[in-house]
Amino acid sequence: MAGQINAFEMAQKQFDGVAKLLNLDPQIAEVLRTPTREYSFRIPVRMDDGSLRVFQGFRVQHNDARGPNKGGIRFHPSETFDTVRALATWMTWKCAVADIPLGGGKGGIIVDPSTLSTTEKERLCRGWVDVMWKNIGPRQDVPAPDVGTTPQMMGWMMDEYSKLVGEYTPGVFTGKPLGGGGSEGRTEATGYGVIYTVREAMKHLGIDPKTSVAAIEGFGNVSQYAAIGFVEMLGGKVACVSCWDRNDRTSYTYSHKDGVNPRFLLTITDQYGTIDKKKATDAGYVVEDGETWIEKDCNVLIPAAIEGHVNADTVKKMSKNVKIVAEGANGPCTPEADEFFKQQGIFNIPDFLCNAGGVTTSYFESVQNDMNFYWPKEEVLQKLDQKMTSAFHAVLNMSLKEKVYMRDAAYMVAIDRVVKAMQLRGWV
Ligand code: NAD
Repeated sequence: MAGQINAFEMAQKQFDGVAKLLNLDPQIAEVLRTPTREYSFRIPVRMDDGSLRVFQGFRVQHNDARGPNKGGIRFHPSETFDTVRALATWMTWKCAVADIPLGGGKGGIIVDPSTLSTTEKERLCRGWVDVMWKNIGPRQDVPAPDVGTTPQMMGWMMDEYSKLVGEYTPGVFTGKPLGGGGSEGRTEATGYGVIYTVREAMKHLGIDPKTSVAAIEGFGNVSQYAAIGFVEMLGGKVACVSCWDRNDRTSYTYSHKDGVNPRFLLTITDQYGTIDKKKATDAGYVVEDGETWIEKDCNVLIPAAIEGHVNADTVKKMSKNVKIVAEGANGPCTPEADEFFKQQGIFNIPDFLCNAGGVTTSYFESVQNDMNFYWPKEEVLQKLDQKMTSAFHAVLNMSLKEKVYMRDAAYMVAIDRVVKAMQLRGWV
C-alpha cells in the first residue's frame, strides 16, 4: 500500500531481479521497467449540496504487447501515482502468466467512496470516463472494479462510454453486474481459481486433499470462495477463517472443532466480509484474536485478506505441518517470509498466479460481450479451471527446469511471454 514502501520501486526491483535471471537484454529490460503511457487528470464533480469538488484521477497503461491493457480502477483516499504504476506493471505479469491475450493497466481516484452519496459516486464515475474515454476501449484498455469500486460503478462507466462513442459497448469495462453485461462465475472466480492451483500443488507434492486442513485469512470475496472450494471441491477441512470487524475496528479468527462451514458463515456475514460474532458464537464457533489464524494446525495456509500479514514475525508462529502457502491476496507474504519458505521447503503459489482467476474471468466477460452470447456458469468455471491449471503447470515446469522458487518462475514465464510478443510485433 501507499505510504510504507514505494510500491513502484518494489515492482521495478522485482523485475530487475528476474531480468538478471533471464539474462534479458538491458535495452529490452528498459522498455519493460517503466509504463508505456500514464495519465494524471482532474475530475470536477457537482456535489449534492451544489458545490463543485475536484478529484485527482489516474490511469497507467504499462504494456500492451499481448493485447489491450487490463486492470482495475481503485477509489482510495491514499491512492498515489506510484501505487497505480506498480499495480499496472503487476497486471502485465498477471495476464501473461495466466496466458490471456491482455496487457497491464490500472487506474484510480484519490477519494474515500464511503464519504460520497450514490449520485455523487455516479457523477464521479462518469467524470472519470469523460476524461479518459478516448484512451480506453475494448481494443485499447479495459478497466474493471478494484478496491473501493463496485459492479454498479462499472455499469455507470460502461453507459457513459457507450453514450460518448455512440454505440453500446459492454466490453469496455468488465466486472459489470449480471444482467448488465457481466459474466456468470465472476463472484466465485478468484477464490475457486486459488483452489484449482492448490489442487494441482497437492497432486505435485503427493498430498491427499481429503485429509488436508487449511487456515484462511479473510472472509471476503476471495476467501469465501476459497473456503467453499477447499471443502466442496477438494473434500478438505477449513480450520479457520478470519475477518476485520467493522464495528469493533479489530480483526478476529473464527474456528470450529469440526472445521468451519463456509456456506453457513456466508449467511451471517455482511457485504464487507464482517462475520456476526454473536451468531457465530451461538453456532459453536470459537472467536479469537485476528492474528491467531496463522497459528492453527494445518497443512495449507491461504492468506486472502491483506498485504504483508505473513512476515518475519508471523511465519515463526506457523504450524510446522504447513506444506503449501497459496497467496489469495495480493502481496500477502513479505520477502522475509519468502526466505523462510525457501529454507523450510514450503511450496509457495505466488499471488499473480494464485489469484489470476479474477482477471481470467474478466477476460471471459469481454469475450462474451464481443460475441453478445453468454455462457452458463458451469462453462465459465470449466474454462477457468483449464486456464488456471495450465498456468500453474507452466510455472511449475519452469521452476523445476530452472531450479528456481515458484515466484521467480512465475515472473520468468510472464516476462518471457511479454518479450516474445514485443519481438513478434517488431518492437524490440
Ligand atoms: P474483500 O474486501 O471482499 O474481503 C477482504 C476480507 O479481508 C474481509 O473479510 C475483511 O474483513 C478481511 N480483512 C481485512 N482486513 C483484515 C485484517 N486486518 N485481518 C483479517 N481480516 C481482514 O476483498 P477481496 O476481494 O476478497 O480481496 C482480498 C485480497 O485479494 C486483496 O489483496 C485483493 O487485492 C486480492 N484480489 C482480489 C481479487 C478479486 O477478484 N476479488 C482478485 C485478485 C486479487
